[in-house]
Amino acid sequence: MRVWIDQDLCTGDGMCEQICPEVFQLQGDGLAYVHDETGIRDGGADDPGRFVAVAAELGDEALDAVAECPGECIFIEGAASAAA
Ligand code: SF4
Repeated sequence: MRVWIDQDLCTGDGMCEQICPEVFQLQGDGLAYVHDETGIRDGGADDPGRFVAVAAELGDEALDAVAECPGECIFIEGAASAAA
C-alpha cells in the first residue's frame, strides 16, 4: 500500500500524525506530509514521487488515519490486502 496527502485539502489538525506518526508528519507550514526514511514528500498531486510505501505492520494505523482525516485528503493505492 502506498499513500500520499493532498496538502491543498489538509486542515492541519494533526489527526494522521497522532494515529500513525511513522507515516504522517506535520511540518512547519502547519500541514501534514507523508514521509519515510528518505524524507518528506512535498511534491503535490502532480508529482509521481508523492507516494510513500506503508510497511505491512503499519497498514491498519495508516488506514485508520485515512478514515479519520477530516480533510479527506489522504489518498491510498493498493490497499486491497488490508481488508481482513
Ligand atoms: S488528518 Fe488529514 S486533514 Fe488532518 S493533518 Fe492529517 S492529512 Fe491533514
